[in-house]
Amino acid sequence: MSDRYCVFGNPVGHSKSPAIHAAFAVQCHQDLRYTAILAPLDGFATSVREFVASGGRGANVTVPFKEEAWRLATRRTGRAELAGAVNTLAFDGSGILGDNTDGAGLLRDLTVNLGCHLAGSRVLVLGAGGAARGVVGPLLDSRPAKLVIVNRNVDRARDLAQRFAGTAALHVCSYPELAERSFDLVINATSASLGGELPPLPASVFAAAGTAYDMMYGDGDTPFLAFARRHGAVRLADGIGMLVEQAAEAFRLWRGVRPDTAPVIATLRGASIANDR
Ligand code: NDP
Repeated sequence: MSDRYCVFGNPVGHSKSPAIHAAFAVQCHQDLRYTAILAPLDGFATSVREFVASGGRGANVTVPFKEEAWRLATRRTGRAELAGAVNTLAFDGSGILGDNTDGAGLLRDLTVNLGCHLAGSRVLVLGAGGAARGVVGPLLDSRPAKLVIVNRNVDRARDLAQRFAGTAALHVCSYPELAERSFDLVINATSASLGGELPPLPASVFAAAGTAYDMMYGDGDTPFLAFARRHGAVRLADGIGMLVEQAAEAFRLWRGVRPDTAPVIATLRGASIANDR
């Protein structure tokens, strides 16, 4: 029987992870089956335990369960420990290993696929949930001049920044405090786009020739990317590249081989353009 993997989320119907892992499996000649599982908002741990009991080998975790997955893991990688959030679980008979591949996925998409130079740049991260937690450490490792985290619930952003206490480049603020400030790279790590909403951003945040990156993906511009396009961002990217890159990192953890991501990104982008027509 094929080895079983899944992604847990709520909502999860929009997830492209099953298609991505199916493509990786074909490319790498791996015998596995990967499905999407809608976990009840109050039943994540139960859903994971049921999946493990039925023979599941590993799982990805998406909105809103990444912090709960961190607590559920019995062992964590260093990057997951630092993030306080887990997006990849491996069940190996000796417990639940938690990893976080979001930061590696985002950094690879930004620097390798999109050619962004982060050293010395001004970076704004919107959100302080599970996705933001995974990317702040790797972003700081690339030595931006400044990295600002903004969140509706500012205490949640402070709590995240606290994990990197003593890092001079890292700052926290509220949305009203963004007035008149601009950034070379603005990353939307909120779930606002899932509900067709836009975080309460001033139009001035996009520096001339700036980049806008929405971790959310879908057909056409998200509300954030449409807003960025209207207000001066010249390079716009959705989260498809990050999604495929973080999935490749998870696949490597589970199967010991890293798939070639470029053809899978190209296929997903092609499908998205076709849906737009
Ligand atoms: P969480 O539920 O953990 O966090 C949600 C965050 O979004 C919080 O910071 C919340 O703020 C903020 N938020 C929600 N709605 C709004 C709004 N209308 N305006 C401003 N802020 C808002 O979710 P995750 O962090 O796990 O996921 C966030 C997004 O990133 C999702 O869309 C997910 O699909 C995407 N993602 C994509 C990945 C990829 O590979 N492309 C990987 C990981 C995530 P507050 O705390 O104030 O409530």
